Amino acid sequence: MILDLDFGEIQSLVASLGEEKYRAKQLFDAMTLAKSLDEISNLPASFKEKIKDDYFSYQVVADLKSADGTQKVALKFPDGAIVESVLLKYKYGNTVCVSTQVGCRMGCKFCASTLNGLVRNLTPGEILLQVLHFNKILGGDLKNRKVTNVVLMGCGEPLDNYENVTKFLHLVTSENGINISQRNISLSTCGIVPNIYKLADDGFSVTLTISLHAPNDSLRKTIMPIANAYKIEEILKACDYYFDKTGRRICFEYSLIEGVNDTDDCIKELAKILKGRSCHVNLIPLNSVKEKNLIGVARKKAYVIAGKLEKMGISATVRRTMGEDIEGACGQLRNRIGDDV
Ligand code: SAH
Repeated sequence: MILDLDFGEIQSLVASLGEEKYRAKQLFDAMTLAKSLDEISNLPASFKEKIKDDYFSYQVVADLKSADGTQKVALKFPDGAIVESVLLKYKYGNTVCVSTQVGCRMGCKFCASTLNGLVRNLTPGEILLQVLHFNKILGGDLKNRKVTNVVLMGCGEPLDNYENVTKFLHLVTSENGINISQRNISLSTCGIVPNIYKLADDGFSVTLTISLHAPNDSLRKTIMPIANAYKIEEILKACDYYFDKTGRRICFEYSLIEGVNDTDDCIKELAKILKGRSCHVNLIPLNSVKEKNLIGVARKKAYVIAGKLEKMGISATVRRTMGEDIEGACGQLRNRIGDDV
């Protein structure tokens, strides 16, 4: 797909098609604005004909708005794959939460994305399109981009689709594209250790977010199968490496599950393992997923836990819940189109 290509690669493509050089910028700009081929008026029909099979196309098969302004869309690609993306409106700007895979094979016990396993990886362009789609519907143009932040926290495990995800990061941060700064991008992972090192070594400096959810391996193994592959100690070592290379404070996600990881002992242990690290803990009362029988703690309890962590010297906040009424909240993304939407 053409949207997988960066500007240099588009220039080569245009040359190989025997078209004038300046067409590359016209094509690239049109894609950045998420224009369909029909909507591009400055390219000749003969050129469009040459690229039509490789140009992107998608359908919006669901578009839901939450009472709090959060918006979730489901985009369907030509092969039938459906991805969900969420727009979150904050005072400082608009954040798009993108999916990186169709489904997920990580199998976390509390997460809806993993219910049917992994269907397939998304290509760089398919991840980018989620950002460009929202930029388009918000009325963004080339000088005034409406999407300011991106979080890789939708369906899928970004570091299980490393090559495509890093190419996406390259595309989404390109100055001649939508140009979102790495500082405004967060990548969330359940902790695929070798790829954390790789991300740092490949020169990326996005905010790294680790889905920790437990302070020790034995508890973590009961809710996150990936804990059988990598120990928390190894994850923390990789985080230290990432911090040393990038100077970016690491964020730890901790979804609070009633009676599972919310005890005083757990919280003390959490503070102990994170002590001395430049990091932040994001507490999220678990959002209920009907197929899973785990329940979230009350918000009040989450604030109490945040206070305890702060007292022990760990920076912590409770994540705002947004879009819960449209299943756009953390861990709630799923594929129900054609099912019981
Ligand atoms: N695979 C990546 C990206 C998912 S991001 C990762 O594991 O980080 C989504 C975040 O929401 C992760 O921290 C995930 O563990 C968390 N999450 C999943 N299901 C949830 C739920 N039902 N309630 C709250 N958080 C959940």
